[in-house]
Amino acid sequence: MMYEELLNKQVRELKPSGIRKFFDLANTKKGVISLGVGEPDFATPWNICEAAIYSIKSKKTHYTANAGLLELRKEISKYLKRRYELNYDPNKNVLVTVGGSEAIDLSLRAIIEKGDEVILLQPCYVAYEPAVILAGGIPKFIELKSENEFKLTKEELLAAITPKTKAIILNFPSNPTGGVMTRKDYEPLIPVLKEHNIIVISDEIYAELSYEEKHCSPANFEEIKDLVILISGFSKAFAMTGWRLGYLCTNETFLREILKIHQYIIMCAPTAAQYGAIEGLKNSQKYVDEMIEQYKLRRNYIVNGFNRIGLPTHLPHGAFYIFPCIKKTGLTSLEFCEKLLEEQNVACVPGSAFGEAGEGFIRVSYAYSIEEIKVAIEKIGYFMEQYL
Ligand code: PMP
Repeated sequence: MMYEELLNKQVRELKPSGIRKFFDLANTKKGVISLGVGEPDFATPWNICEAAIYSIKSKKTHYTANAGLLELRKEISKYLKRRYELNYDPNKNVLVTVGGSEAIDLSLRAIIEKGDEVILLQPCYVAYEPAVILAGGIPKFIELKSENEFKLTKEELLAAITPKTKAIILNFPSNPTGGVMTRKDYEPLIPVLKEHNIIVISDEIYAELSYEEKHCSPANFEEIKDLVILISGFSKAFAMTGWRLGYLCTNETFLREILKIHQYIIMCAPTAAQYGAIEGLKNSQKYVDEMIEQYKLRRNYIVNGFNRIGLPTHLPHGAFYIFPCIKKTGLTSLEFCEKLLEEQNVACVPGSAFGEAGEGFIRVSYAYSIEEIKVAIEKIGYFMEQYL
């Protein structure tokens, strides 16, 4: 029996994540220093853990409302108002999901008709393209330019729009480039999005990690707010990747329909995690701020380090990644990462894992201690000596 043939063709044709592929390789070696993983090295603040443990001790171990605990939705709503001046009604506009990941999938499945086009900005987070394809959509790529600091311009947007364009996925601060869009950067795009009725799926999971400018959401523009599906979560800012908790906010109609998919497929996000997140939003901003301060120190340190050893690196204004240019080595990004791993036991992610526009770059995470970063820079410095 050929089991392959029993499977869905679209699924069979999906490429495995370029990050995973590379890390399976890295994991076969001993003593590897990895700057590859996109998750905080910090432990979840203890008060959040205690609140979750207490909820279990208090026998709060049942399903919650499908949309999530009302208390959590109220806290999310207050938080978005307090931090980003966004107004979302906890009863009508907020849905608690299993990570930002579920929110991305739900949004796409709720809006796409077979053949609709969804604009993706490359280099981009590895999950977007498969999520669009699995929802029946067609990904249309815009290749962002490093000389524009990987921001989206009005000209690039206009050139990508066709009569089939249904939505665009934005992700600022960006994984993998660390690029951000300021209010000024967004301004020219807003009338275009409005005129063409393009749904904006805005993945703002790194919003707290904005180091220079105040974070701006496309939902901050009243003209298009109801076209925006804002996605965020607790994984990055609250160091809660393993808790699997995120949320989406949007207009009442979108939310009602998206909720149906969540209701049938998931029921509700994990209950203990929801209690932990309530504590996170109520009483943990100081821990979030401390982590952000650390990321900022590491960012400055790693950007200086990479430039010093001959790998040109922009100062990214958000997230916890740098995106150094490796073109001068004459290697492809995959060759660079494989050779670096082989010769110096340091793992980074090839830029090509994030789409063709990422070729010529590597993604380096600085969600690691300064000590680890220091050793890694030293080793990459030795590696680079053959190319100087
Ligand atoms: N969006 C982006 C841009 C990410 O980098 C990630 C995690 N790597 C996610 C979404 C998914 O996060 P979550 O843990 O909330 O599902």
